[in-house]
Parts: sequence; structure tokens; C-alpha cells
Amino acid sequence: SKREGKNRIRFFRKSMLDDIINETKLVQGLKTAIKNEELFLVFQPQYFVETGKLRGFETLIRWKSAEFGFVSPMKFIPLAEKNGMILQIGEWVMKHAFLAMKKIQNQYDFTGKIAVNVSAVQANESGFVGTIAKILKETGFDPGRLEIEITETAYTNSMDQVREMIAELQSLGIVVALDDFGTGYSSLSYLQQLPFDLVKIDKTFIDKINFDLQSNKFVSTMVSMVHQMNIPVLAEGVETEEQKAFLQLKKCDMIQGYLYGKPIPIDKVGELFNNSNDK
Ligand code: C2E
Ligand code: CA
Ligand code: CA
Ligand code: CA
Repeated sequence: SKREGKNRIRFFRKSMLDDIINETKLVQGLKTAIKNEELFLVFQPQYFVETGKLRGFETLIRWKSAEFGFVSPMKFIPLAEKNGMILQIGEWVMKHAFLAMKKIQNQYDFTGKIAVNVSAVQANESGFVGTIAKILKETGFDPGRLEIEITETAYTNSMDQVREMIAELQSLGIVVALDDFGTGYSSLSYLQQLPFDLVKIDKTFIDKINFDLQSNKFVSTMVSMVHQMNIPVLAEGVETEEQKAFLQLKKCDMIQGYLYGKPIPIDKVGELFNNSNDK
């Protein structure tokens, strides 16, 4: 009815204003988050499908704000990208991921991969590779253990520039993964034109595996297409035995998801090794 329509409009306007106010407050909070030690990292295990062995971890950032409680990275990363704070946050993530994983290496001899998400805003910076090299050097972390996850979204740099950046990373021994494969407009041209070491199939595709045959065909086509380019595939967001069995059947190389393990803080990562030693 007309009346509902009006209310809806009023509600919409109010929520837009709320969004702007909240955003401003969040940005202010985020500005002091590093200094106030409100940011921390969690690590989600990744496994080889064939051997079942631990392959490494994806680093995921968390913000526990004194003012707002837990704020999802899906919320604050885009804000940080908009106002440039992502550069500082990105450096913080790498430094702390490397230091944490060095401890794990010293304690448990673990030398697997550590994947770090990188925003296009970071990667568009001309000093990007140099910054990573600097942090690797300062922390004494082995570049061969680092994997950089990039998505195809929001690149202002040309394809040639992105290709050059990837080549520079690879020349340092760093592994470069295409994240969220299939979700963007240019996934296929990215895959075709850039030399990725690994492709991660997005959770949205894995989610649908159980539900309809078309989606299954879609995922298996993605896996075999990437394999035909001699690139290994990692499936993210695997939650069920059915999904696991299907991905195994399709010769997906690596797997990550709640079925295997949720993202965990570094002290829990240590427990993971203690437990596996017991077995
Ligand atoms: P992403 O790179 O696609 O990361 C995967 C997301 O899926 C993570 O959400 C992870 O916790 C979640 N996930 C993994 N397995 C499962 C599963 O089996 N079930 C369900 N329901 N979820 C699963 P999270 O940690 O909330 O991160 C969201 C996004 O925020 C990430 O998506 C990434 O784009 C961004 N992000 C997180 N940490 C960083 C960071 O340090 N830097 C940058 N630039 N972005 C980050
Ligand atoms: Ca990722
Ligand atoms: Ca991502
Ligand atoms: Ca994803």
C-alpha cells in the first residue's frame, strides 16, 4: 500500500544516515585500532587432498573494537581501502603473520605455506613488492613460504603492470594465488593472461555443490580448466563430507574449510601440532 511505501522510504533514509554515521565512527575507531592492539590474526589450515597433510594456513585479520565489539573484515577492510589505511594494516598483517609463523616453525618445525590476503589498493602501490621484501628481511621469514592472495577486483594498474608485479613477487620466491576465482567479471582473462601459481575457487561455488547438478558441473569445469593450464586448485569454504568427496573425485589439489578447521588464533595453531603429535 501507499502507507507502507512511505514508511519504507523513511526507513531507508534513516538507515542510510545511520550508515554514514556508523562508517565515520568505525573509521575513527580503526585509526587507533593498531595502536590500541585491537587487531589480531587468525589462521585457517589448508590441507592437501591426496595425502591429507597440512599444507599451510591462510591469514585472516580480526578486529575486536573496545567500542563496537567484533567488526567483520568484510566491513572494515573496504573502509580501510577507501581511506588508504589498508596500506598500514596490510604491513601490520604481514609482519605479525611472519613473526607468528616463525615461532611455530621454531617450536614445531613447521615450514608450510602462509597465505596473506592482499587488497588491490595495496598491490596498486608502486612500492608494494619492495615493502614485502623489506618485511621479509626484517622478520627473517623465508619468502618461499609466503603466498600472496590477490583478487581481480579494483585494479587500476594495467594488465601489464599486474603481470610485472606478479613476476617480481615470483622472482623473490613468493607464491601468487588468484583468490575468489569465478566471482569477478574478469576471472577468465586474469587466468589466461597472468601466471598464477595457484587458483582458489570461491566458497560461493563450493556452497552449491550439494544442491544441484548444474553447480557440480560448474565446479568440475572450473577445476579441469585450471588444471589444463597446469595450475593447482584450492577449494575454500568446504563444510560437508559430500563437498569433500566431490572435490576429491574431481582431483582438486587442496582444501580449506570448516570441515577441516576454522580460523584459529596462534596459540591454538600450536595446539594443532601438539594434538597431531599425539596421534
Ligand atoms: P576470503 O579471502 O574469501 O576469505 C575466506 C573467508 O571465508 C574468511 O572469512 C573465512 O573465515 C571464511 N571461511 C573459510 N572457510 C569457511 C567455511 O567452511 N564456512 C564459512 N561459512 N566460512 C568460511 P573472514 O575471515 O570473515 O574474511 C572475509 C574477507 O575479508 C576475506 O575473504 C578477505 O577478502 C578479507 N580479509 C580477511 N583478512 C584480510 C587481510 O588480512 N587483508 C585483506 N586485504 N583482506 C582480508
Ligand atoms: Ca583469501
Ligand atoms: Ca579475498
Ligand atoms: Ca572467498
